Amino acid sequence: MAQNTKIEWTDTTWNPITGCTKISDGCTNCYATKMANRLYKMGNAKYANNFTVTLHVDALKEPYKWKKPRRIFVCSMSDLFHEDVPDGFIQMVFAVMNENPQHTFQVLTKRPNRIIRLSTQIKLTWSDNIWLGTTVENMGAIIFYDRITMLKHTLAKTKFISFEPLLQDMGKLDLSGIDWAIVGGESGTNARPIQEDWVLNIKNDQNVAFYFKQWGGRNKKKAGRLLMGRTWDDMPTKRERYEYSTITWSELESMLKNHVLGGLQ
Ligand code: SF4
Repeated sequence: MAQNTKIEWTDTTWNPITGCTKISDGCTNCYATKMANRLYKMGNAKYANNFTVTLHVDALKEPYKWKKPRRIFVCSMSDLFHEDVPDGFIQMVFAVMNENPQHTFQVLTKRPNRIIRLSTQIKLTWSDNIWLGTTVENMGAIIFYDRITMLKHTLAKTKFISFEPLLQDMGKLDLSGIDWAIVGGESGTNARPIQEDWVLNIKNDQNVAFYFKQWGGRNKKKAGRLLMGRTWDDMPTKRERYEYSTITWSELESMLKNHVLGGLQ
């Protein structure tokens, strides 16, 4: 079943896939891992495999039943582009999103390199109701995985970056072609600290819609989400499809040749 969610920038989560594996520093205190383990121990059938990647064919029907338009966070308990999710199942998830234009689907991945590879092998239709985002938690997300470049070269019309948990100052970034930046600090017992100037660097330097999610910390409720005395809840605005410079597959591959961890196999 889909769930109402406390995640501020969405209305509902939808999990046709559960389970994942850690890939980068942002995963260290993965909320989904802990939640899956709790549900597994409670005997929840959907989490019988705990956090092993598991496909839920039944869940594919859910968006059809929601008549009122919603913003839907796709795979909040997984990563749609995890290497263990079969290409065919990704196509099925896309078919559901394509057939439900009343909803906005927010797909957030730490594996945009797989999207680039898939786009040369199978057909994925990027209908306008699919927003695609990637996580950039520190410089490693750029140095090892080149996630921003990968995101820019996908065919999604609306593109966003989740700087959460923000773990270091990102310096100057080129966010041309990116519509939306979500920034947030890590929460929970082992939360790693965020600094205000890191947040302001992203907010001030970029011409993108800005959403400040939270300061985080051990008591995220108390820390709240005010920045400069107010909340920041911008959403991407509708615009024409951004025409990023065309690039060939081999050019992209050569750009990535030094990226040891994020290489395209
Ligand atoms: S990619 Fe997301 S769901 Fe997967 S382990 Fe990392 S934080 Fe958790």
